[in-house]
Amino acid sequence: MSNLFDAFRLAERDGRVALVLADGTAISYGELTALAGRIARRLGEAGVAPGDRVVVQVEKSHAALALYLACLQRGAAFVPLNSGYTMQEVGYFVGDAEPRLVVCAPERIEAVRAAAEPAQPAILTLDEAGRGSLTDAPGAPLLDVVARGPDDLAAILYTSGTTGKPKGAMLSHANLGSNARVLMEEWRFTGDDVLLHALPIYHAHGLFVACNVLLMAGGRMIFLPKFDIDAVLEALPRATTMMGIPTFYTRLLTDARLTPGLVRHMRLFTSGSAPLLAETHVEWQARSGHAILERYGMTETGMNTSNPYDGARIAGTVGLALPGTEVRVVDGESGRELPRGEIGMIEVRGPNVFGGYWRLPEKTAAEFRPDGFFITGDLGTLDERGYVRIVGRGKDLVISGGLNVYPKEVETEIDALDGIIESAVFGVPHPDFGEAVTAVAVAAKGFAPGEAGMLEALAGRLARFKLPKRIILVPELPRNTMGKVQKAELRRQYRDLYG
Ligand code: AMP
Repeated sequence: MSNLFDAFRLAERDGRVALVLADGTAISYGELTALAGRIARRLGEAGVAPGDRVVVQVEKSHAALALYLACLQRGAAFVPLNSGYTMQEVGYFVGDAEPRLVVCAPERIEAVRAAAEPAQPAILTLDEAGRGSLTDAPGAPLLDVVARGPDDLAAILYTSGTTGKPKGAMLSHANLGSNARVLMEEWRFTGDDVLLHALPIYHAHGLFVACNVLLMAGGRMIFLPKFDIDAVLEALPRATTMMGIPTFYTRLLTDARLTPGLVRHMRLFTSGSAPLLAETHVEWQARSGHAILERYGMTETGMNTSNPYDGARIAGTVGLALPGTEVRVVDGESGRELPRGEIGMIEVRGPNVFGGYWRLPEKTAAEFRPDGFFITGDLGTLDERGYVRIVGRGKDLVISGGLNVYPKEVETEIDALDGIIESAVFGVPHPDFGEAVTAVAVAAKGFAPGEAGMLEALAGRLARFKLPKRIILVPELPRNTMGKVQKAELRRQYRDLYG
């Protein structure tokens, strides 16, 4: 069974509910499979052959999930795009991926056609209700599943690429299948689970971690178009599990309707895609009685580490290497493995790790060690028990006066100041220091801490070279849709601060 589609064993689950939509509509596994089969037939009519790419920029819907399944069934590579990408960006992705077919929202068809020039892929449409030229032609569902080898492409996901052009991470059927199986087992997913799904499905977290795991387990998803706090609070009593990004939890914590009674029956809350503050973990446990299970992964690798289901879920850590995946921390320059506790580059190896970047063999080679470990670009530590802590992206490291400053350490101290909710630390060019440690911080309602006072309070807690030169209060931190603070954006915005 090398095609991931077969691993979902959809046919066996015919009458069971697969999805419950925001309006309460239930979609059974049988209906989802039939829709995927009809779309698979349509893909064939549009000329999509095994190995072809299908670029998809649509809103989240049950039909978008069926389209993903149809691509697997046809042996095509699914290439989802963030629905917020502009036409110029879509043009770049189409030029790079060279798809046979593009699926877009009906109102964008002309713009997509123009953006796709000079390539002339077929273009079909799909709206958020599941209607469009992709689904409007009735016909018998295709039943055949194209045989795939483990290394054949299942998807290409473009990484957000804070520097340079986005790169397409090539994920095989074996990459996705092995990771889904490990997560299903580690997190104990079964056919009895109901996952509250409020993540986007153009990203690895919402699509591969959430959907693949639930489909493999034969569970049900409450499939919400996005994170809407009222809808999430309303749905929680019907769920057994939720997978979230840290902002889901911080937003829920601000709402008085989050009570222990509302979530007592839940089995599991997970968090990832961006760092969960230890404080949020502690507050969530106090408010809900549940310890959030934090895990760590990335587009290129799927999930690498997870806090244990049974055993200590340690706040501020992303847990232990998942079974089958090796994690090490090395000196970035020499590649030498570092003693436990020292900060270095996190590297991973395992069946979850992607095959490379689409048509970029040199970039791919530069990010793998000769022994097959992938250089994640994340800096962190491993403790004696094997728990991983992440201190930030390597490229966010600040080098001030020749000394390394890890933003996380400084952020933790700023966050602990009176009246501060959260902060982001980054490097900005400075005539004397090369880079100056610089911070933006968000104050709690009713607080307006003075900059001088904050700097003075930090002086007793951090070595001089780590002290920010400036702490600027801002109404909110710039975040992308997955909750990641956009440090490149901050560096851009403040680049002339000291110049
Ligand atoms: P993406 O490829 O968009 O999934 O982003 C992957 C990156 O998100 C990783 O390389 C990390 O920098 C970050 N990330 C993911 N999970 C966590 C986590 N639990 N804690 C801190 N950073 C995380």
